[in-house]
Amino acid sequence: MKFYSLNNSSIQASFKEAVIAGIAPDKGLYFPEEIQSLSSDFFKNIDSYSNHQIAFKAIHQFVSADLPDEILEEIIKNVLDFDFPVVEIEENVATLELFHGPTMAFKDVGARFMANCLGYFSKDKTSQVTVLVATSGDTGGAVANGFLGVKGVNVVILYPSGKVSDIQEKQLTTLGQNIVAMEVSGTFDDCQRMVKTAFLDTEITSQKKLTSANSINIARWLPQLFYFLFAYKQAKSKNKEIVFSVPSGNFGNICAGIVAQKLGMPVKHFIASTNANDVVPSFMQNGVYEPMPSVATISNAMDVGDPSNFVRIRHLYQNDFSKLQENLSSYSFLDEATKSAMQKIYSESGYVADPHGAVGYLGLKEYQKSNPNVYGIFLETAHPVKFLDVVEDTLGLSPEIPPQIQKVMGKEKKSIKISSYEELKSYLKDS
Ligand SMILES: *Cc1c(COP(=O)(O)O)cnc(C)c1O
Repeated sequence: MKFYSLNNSSIQASFKEAVIAGIAPDKGLYFPEEIQSLSSDFFKNIDSYSNHQIAFKAIHQFVSADLPDEILEEIIKNVLDFDFPVVEIEENVATLELFHGPTMAFKDVGARFMANCLGYFSKDKTSQVTVLVATSGDTGGAVANGFLGVKGVNVVILYPSGKVSDIQEKQLTTLGQNIVAMEVSGTFDDCQRMVKTAFLDTEITSQKKLTSANSINIARWLPQLFYFLFAYKQAKSKNKEIVFSVPSGNFGNICAGIVAQKLGMPVKHFIASTNANDVVPSFMQNGVYEPMPSVATISNAMDVGDPSNFVRIRHLYQNDFSKLQENLSSYSFLDEATKSAMQKIYSESGYVADPHGAVGYLGLKEYQKSNPNVYGIFLETAHPVKFLDVVEDTLGLSPEIPPQIQKVMGKEKKSIKISSYEELKSYLKDS
């Protein structure tokens, strides 16, 4: 299977080349040349397969040219060693908990899958690959954890000083080994700009192989389709039409869900739920795509003003706006509504949702107003403990700190403070 650039379909790469490069030479996102459906028997009998078997079947066609079957099996075993439960909280409303991994956000699966692939592709090489990534919080921790100790790969994470939560900072600054944290005096946008500048800086790229570890990278994006299959496996016995509401920022997760649907998984509809950053909800109203500077909200992992994966979603519908509207709705909610939803969920069902999950809940409820009989699943993308301040202020309770978070709390933070691109550049050239 080849992957082509969404800017120019004659620019093609193998899975391995696309993973190592991250983005096509013309700056387009890579996209699979074909998505072959799985058999309808597979979906009928999905509950007789293990999660590992489901994942293997789903991703095999995309990666098999570069990953032998036994390697893919091994990678899947490494990546999927925790649960993805669907928890019903109201009639026809359930949540898919994606936060049982090592850093307690859904990015663990993609980050680990990419780390395993890159580790495999680098194993016989003498040259090193450097993963350079900017984070507003969750990506950094998941990438640090996923890549820790992977031979042939060094990781440099840029984060905005004072703008990530304490737990998030610990997760990305305390691991050591091949993980370096750069604490940037500036905003997330500044970090992102420095990373983009480095990718274009030939004084660096002539000496060092750089790649990115956000959801533009196909090895981080595609494995997210597993979640939707695992949810379907659990919800199928309801014998109802299923809809998914996905709290969305860069739209990688929901786009992977749509790929699962293209594989033949029965889904009635997708709902992209956003916070005040409403570029996509506006687009779905009026067909005009207008990127904006992001605004800060309590669901900060979704504070994105120009979602990078939306171009993949449009491509999945051949850029046909009415086809897209038939299958996707999108709603935006402000922080006040998100907090009220957290309180309502807690008082009615005793369930503690994090602010991102609560946005997903709101989007689902909005859709169910006109489609009351569907079985709705909203994705819980992070554990509430990762957004402790908001949860404590809104619900007046302190969630128990799980062991994988406790483990990093006592560790010593190590970061390199930088305030300009030149400092990043000289670090990359000299290290
Ligand atoms: C990254 C993230 C999101 C947004 O996911 P996208 O794939 O970028 O749309 C939502 N919630 C949490 C907690 C996240 O970390």
